[in-house]
Amino acid sequence: MYLKEYLEQFGDKKIKLFVDMDGVVADYIFGSAQDYDKKRPLYDNIDKLEIVSEMPNVEMFIFSATRYSSGFAQKHWWLDTYAPFFKKENRIIISREDNEMRDSSILKAEYLANYERDGSILILIDDDPKNLKDVRKMNEDIILLKDTVLVDDTARKLKNRINDGKDTKVYIKKLEK
Ligand SMILES: [Mg+2]
Repeated sequence: MYLKEYLEQFGDKKIKLFVDMDGVVADYIFGSAQDYDKKRPLYDNIDKLEIVSEMPNVEMFIFSATRYSSGFAQKHWWLDTYAPFFKKENRIIISREDNEMRDSSILKAEYLANYERDGSILILIDDDPKNLKDVRKMNEDIILLKDTVLVDDTARKLKNRINDGKDTKVYIKKLEK
């Protein structure tokens, strides 16, 4: 399984893995933002993340933004139902409403920029190129992974090397042009 193999290359170094929610573990398209209980779980990704969550050196976080603070309860309910291995204390959900409705990408980038470094390898999995781009601008040290890295067979068939931190940087640079 691809993500696990990728993480194993770091040996027993401590890894903190920040996982976006919409488009990575929950279907982004199906159901509106206000109907979170109808969001379809992306079981393939969830299964792979659950396996990774059992690696002793990996600490996993949900890293999500919500338009309104009312989204907190819905997102917690959804995670309790479909991906309970994301511990409550490891769910970072940022409300745009509480932050002058600023862009999710900027709020995520700032959160990570202020996140205390303790020597762990920091990795973000996010499906939104804008999030990856803004996080990169403020966080040179974070490894960025597109959600496709979770889908092992496809990534392998396409010889998709986006999983590599260095290559992802190239990808981000292309976006900035
Ligand atoms: Mg997303």
